Amino acid sequence: MMAQYLEIKSANPGALLFYRMGDFYEMFFDDAVAAAQALDIALTKRGKHQGEDIPMCGVPVHAAESYLLTLIRKGFRVAVCEQMEDPAEAKKRGSKSVVRRDVVRLVTPGTLTEESLLEARRHNFLAAFAEVRGEAALAWVDISTGAFRAMGCPGVRLGAELARLAPREVLLNEATERDWAEIVSESGAAVTPLSRASFDSSSAETRLTGLFSVGTLEGFGTFSRAEMSAMGALVDYLEITQKGKLPLLRPPVREAMGGTMQIDAATRRNLDLTASLSGGREGSLLAAIDRTVTAAGARLLERRLSSPSRDLPTIHARLAAVRALVGDTGLCAALRDSLRKCPDIDRALSRLGLDRGGPRDLAAIRNGLAQAGDVAGLLGDDLPQTLTGARAALTGHDELCDLLDRALVAEPPLLVRDGGFIATGFDEGLDEARTLRDEGRGVIARMQAGFVEETGISSLKIKHNNVLGYFIEVTATHAERMLSPPLSDTFIHRQTTANALRFTTVELSELETRILNAGNRALEIEKRLYDSLKTAVLNHAGPAGQAAAALAEIDLATGLADLARGEDWCEPEVDDSRAFAVTGGRHPVVERALRRQGGTPFIANDCDLAEAGSGAAIWLLTGPNMSGKSTFLRQNALIALLAQAGSFVPAASAHIGLVSQLFSRVGAADDLARGRSTFMVEMVETAAILNQADDRALVILDEIGRGTATYDGLSIAWATLEHLHDANRCRALFATHYHEMTALTQKLSGVENATVAVKEWEGDVIFLHEVRKGAADRSYGVQVARLAGLPDSVVERARVVLDALERGEREGGRSPSALIDDLPLFSAAAIPQPSQSAPAGPAPLDERLSAIHPDELSPREALDLIYELKALA
Ligand code: ADP
Repeated sequence: MMAQYLEIKSANPGALLFYRMGDFYEMFFDDAVAAAQALDIALTKRGKHQGEDIPMCGVPVHAAESYLLTLIRKGFRVAVCEQMEDPAEAKKRGSKSVVRRDVVRLVTPGTLTEESLLEARRHNFLAAFAEVRGEAALAWVDISTGAFRAMGCPGVRLGAELARLAPREVLLNEATERDWAEIVSESGAAVTPLSRASFDSSSAETRLTGLFSVGTLEGFGTFSRAEMSAMGALVDYLEITQKGKLPLLRPPVREAMGGTMQIDAATRRNLDLTASLSGGREGSLLAAIDRTVTAAGARLLERRLSSPSRDLPTIHARLAAVRALVGDTGLCAALRDSLRKCPDIDRALSRLGLDRGGPRDLAAIRNGLAQAGDVAGLLGDDLPQTLTGARAALTGHDELCDLLDRALVAEPPLLVRDGGFIATGFDEGLDEARTLRDEGRGVIARMQAGFVEETGISSLKIKHNNVLGYFIEVTATHAERMLSPPLSDTFIHRQTTANALRFTTVELSELETRILNAGNRALEIEKRLYDSLKTAVLNHAGPAGQAAAALAEIDLATGLADLARGEDWCEPEVDDSRAFAVTGGRHPVVERALRRQGGTPFIANDCDLAEAGSGAAIWLLTGPNMSGKSTFLRQNALIALLAQAGSFVPAASAHIGLVSQLFSRVGAADDLARGRSTFMVEMVETAAILNQADDRALVILDEIGRGTATYDGLSIAWATLEHLHDANRCRALFATHYHEMTALTQKLSGVENATVAVKEWEGDVIFLHEVRKGAADRSYGVQVARLAGLPDSVVERARVVLDALERGEREGGRSPSALIDDLPLFSAAAIPQPSQSAPAGPAPLDERLSAIHPDELSPREALDLIYELKALA
């Protein structure tokens, strides 16, 4: 057995081997050590190998999925090795024979299909990056839904595209793995190197045309060599991991590179698009706006948010669907009620395709397609094309629906081997088998009645014992009649006891065998029927997949309509101009958080990046910290993004000229893992923006230069703004606390000053969160610091220093160091100490003073005391 184990293990390097032994998957050697630790299960030992104990651990087969999930999450890949024959068969070959075993599947992060291993509302992409003669491409597939896509992707864009797709696993050519592995790891995906042969673009073509049974791929679009190579690598890898069983893939779709708004990884993080800073969905834009009621709808929403469109007709069509649904509350509610009953057709289909499904997947298809018909019935002719067009995909499934309806019980079990999923009345043989199994006694009773009639012996009984099985018994008085013709022709004598005779008949022994086998037979028939139903479903996979896509589209549109109505969002006007005019804009996530806290309401703000010819349109936003600058910047970026994703937007009105690229540099945390300081990260990201932004980009820059010394920071911010204005000529919102920069508006025609208003009241600042045209008069940093709970002594001292610095500037630019020389020294004693930081026990001076009784002092003693006190002070 160990020899077999080692052979299989060496054929599957890089993966933990789940070696099936009866009811367990066992792991040995290093696998066992690693798995025991990762799964927190007991490590035992079994036998010896080259004189050493063999470490071993195992997991029960029935609970294997949850262990698999843990291992996959921890970055392992698992080869599942099954017994390929009954152990009894192996024994037949000889007592020493080992049961044949083989790896049936390689479980990796990108190739999961099990419901329990997947997140229902997220895609699970597997991607491949390929280069062919200086050209590069990315292809990706979700085998749990069959989605298959490819696009040209120059290396410099790889990070951004991976951030958009968030694949779980990325295949790289081992020849160039080193160049790209870091970028892939940074995106959070697992790196899987494959051989050059897997990436060979000519064999890719053969693989792909074979997979889709077509002569040429041209019908699907024109693919470049690099795209072919990436797609071919995917298919090859799926063959390797699924052991030849290929998932149901939709024909590949080629995504145009300029088709979507480009958003790099840093911008996605900064804007918390699909995951918040902490990494979870909670707190992200996606979580705040997701009102879809199906998993497929939720996945579509994530895809749309990750890839807002740049195609006006597409955007307009999507907005029209939302508009129609916003206007018809009744329809919207009816659609949502119907959609709620829709199971995940895509994932059920894919499990059936890989032969990993069960009766419940068949039921999911049945329920889903029935619901699709229901949804189609709700869509009237007066709706926009996006919705009416979906009707064709939603209908035409009657035949399959009818078959599944007749064939399946209402709520089938998960596994085929549990049986009991085929409805009564669907298959005569099955019904009979079940009747025999369940009502064996009833059948026997009926048969007995028949024999009584035939023989005229009313005391005749059918009985059962372990030796004879079923038998017919009559009392000895009837012996003669039974043993002579014609009855003896039918009744075969088996046994005579003291006062009874026992018989059987051909019919009875057949019935007996049938009763005994009925349970097994019923199950076998069910398995056969399952296979034929599965085939029927898979033959209909294309149309069923289209129905699923249409349902997702409708779910998304109704979800967005529900959101727009509930949150009072407006339809954006999106066109080809360079406009960016928002009135009453809000930040969906911050607004929601404030509402939950129940405190101050969110203050809506306008933003109008006036179009100055073909030049830049930039707002330079000043205002104290905490006044709401970042919120304002982000909300405008999100409004543009939502509009192009086809959603209404959180504003009273919005006019957005198509945005080609969205860049955001907002705050930064130290990226210690990569050994970069905040400042370095900030500069790298700023460089990316200045090098890439075109005149259709929207750029959000927050507090550039904060991470370095004042003058350095100011100069960098200054030069950055000039570059955006003169070279990038884009639309931008630029927040800064360097007031000196507000003077730039006099020089740069496309830059306007704006500020977040605050009020000063009894030395405190009050944030109004109102954005107005004009420059902030000062930064209120000291006041904000006080709000944050800085010790009073420090706040007071800061005021003094600030006064001196400002005076120095007014009086002719004296250097700060000269000013500091003039300032009285910081003296903690001069400022009242907060009680908690007072030194323990009374000061000597206080002690001495409290001990003095002036009435008892002579003039001489008083004078001495003054000297003494002076010395203590
Ligand atoms: P800044 O970037 O100026 O330091 P932020 O944008 O981080 O300020 O905002 C600070 C806090 O002020 C936010 O967490 C939010 O609670 C509140 N805030 C921001 N904008 C608004 C607004 N428009 N209406 C109400 N509260 C707001």
